Amino acid sequence: MSNISTTRRRLLAGIPALTAGALIPAAQAASAPVKWDKSYDVVIIGSGFAGMAAAAEASAAGASVVVLEKMRVAGGNSAISGGGFACWTDELKLREKYKLGDDSAELHFKDTMKGGDYYNIPELVRVLAEQAPDAMNWMLSKGGLKLNKGLGRVGGHSAYRDHMATGPRYLAAIEKIARENGFRDLMKNTEAVRLYKDDKGTVTGVEVKTRSGLQNIEARRGVVVAAGGFARDVKFRMRYVPTLTEAYNSTNHAGATGDTLEMVLEAGADALHLAFIQLFPTAEPTRGMIDRPALFPIQFPGFGAVYVAKNGRRFVSELERRDVVSQAEIATGGKETWCVFNEAVYSQLTDRKEIEQFVKSGRVKTGATLSELAAAMGVPADALEKTISEHNAILKAGKDEAFGKPITAAMKPMQKGPYFAVAQWPSVHHCQGGVRINTDAQVIDVRGKPIAHLYAAGEFVGGVHGNNRLGGNAIADCIVFGRIAGRNAARKA
Ligand SMILES: Cc1cc2nc3c(=O)[nH]c(=O)nc-3n(C[C@H](O)[C@H](O)[C@H](O)COP(=O)(O)OP(=O)(O)OC[C@H]3O[C@@H](n4cnc5c(N)ncnc54)[C@H](O)[C@@H]3O)c2cc1C
Repeated sequence: MSNISTTRRRLLAGIPALTAGALIPAAQAASAPVKWDKSYDVVIIGSGFAGMAAAAEASAAGASVVVLEKMRVAGGNSAISGGGFACWTDELKLREKYKLGDDSAELHFKDTMKGGDYYNIPELVRVLAEQAPDAMNWMLSKGGLKLNKGLGRVGGHSAYRDHMATGPRYLAAIEKIARENGFRDLMKNTEAVRLYKDDKGTVTGVEVKTRSGLQNIEARRGVVVAAGGFARDVKFRMRYVPTLTEAYNSTNHAGATGDTLEMVLEAGADALHLAFIQLFPTAEPTRGMIDRPALFPIQFPGFGAVYVAKNGRRFVSELERRDVVSQAEIATGGKETWCVFNEAVYSQLTDRKEIEQFVKSGRVKTGATLSELAAAMGVPADALEKTISEHNAILKAGKDEAFGKPITAAMKPMQKGPYFAVAQWPSVHHCQGGVRINTDAQVIDVRGKPIAHLYAAGEFVGGVHGNNRLGGNAIADCIVFGRIAGRNAARKA
């Protein structure tokens, strides 16, 4: 198993996660120190989508801002994110341009609630659905964001609303806006290890561990915690889901650990949904990462791609939610399953050149005929031929009796080679649980009251996605609530 979290490494070395080295005190809210080493209006913990969106808005409001990043490289999971962003409209009018049917904020809200089995906090979901288009337009108009061709429909969404770029492209757009708003100070290799509060319980700053020792940073107006999830932290995730052992790979960056959540809980925050940890169904099977081909099985089913098991047969609706697809894959009996497509399918989102690049590397298998493809995949040829022919008939009939997939006009039958297939398998991906916030992104304490001057956003927060996040909703969530947190943290008392 290659993915061992920092916390786990510390534990294997016999060092408790929160007290590694004599420098780090046990994390808890403490009284403000006698001396501040630095002072800002707003201190932001984490340099992913949520933290950088908060930095952009807090800077726009005229606040002095610092972003703290514990890792050597900034960006966290956001920097490796696939780039699907769910919003029901945008200033480019992509849905109209590609003639992909109707959509609305209400439909996005309903899909998200249903996709999370109604565990979601409805007020937070409303904010997500209503403000996601504005977040997208902000990056397009002010950040110079460029989107990929097409508009996808991904599992659990009942409309084509998946806007596509890459994680780094969104981050670059947000950073451009932040810099134009006056943001300057990003401190890498700087880990927040403790929150300070005054005697009224207002958060006043943070203690950080740097390479040169501990420092105290004052936050005159507010602290925003945008520290991401903990999917890579085997020990921490097993507290809530004991079956998520190291036998599962993770898609996350090495810094996706639970320490910062412990720190904020110790400062009195409430948390919810910590056991709702998502498996990404179509990761690369060996290492569990999301490389570009791992996104084909997410994006291509809206245009007719088919999933098959080792026996060459379909086993689930390709437009099902991620939790349903992951469990269906595991139930097929073992690694791996496949996503099959041809040009009629992929050409609606990408081109032959991109597919060929992964054929060359061996990540995507190909065959001039289905029988040749089956040989390359190691599945029975007659079964694969039967599956694709049946699926073509399903598209023609407009009804999927076997698995109930909603059929649309954008889904194209596969009638001509060459055919392609990419291997897929579940990997631990997204934490739907985290600290409790209200619609102003204020962190709520265990008695239901906001903790003064403490805000949170992004994957660090629980309640937006219920027990299962829909594809494209995380980036939208991080940027929408990051902006809200930044604006509110920058307000003068
Ligand atoms: C491979 C991959 C692909 C994905 N693809 C998509 C997609 O296509 N669409 C979608 O909607 N979602 C996607 N997601 C999910 C989405 O990208 C994440 O939920 C999102 O990036 C989280 O952003 P964030 O700002 O909350 O946290 P992060 O981007 O993880 O940033 C948090 C940062 O905080 C830092 N940090 C933590 N604790 C401290 C501390 N104490 N002090 C200082 N720094 C700290 C971390 O090191 C990290 O850099 C994907 C996730 C992964 C892993």
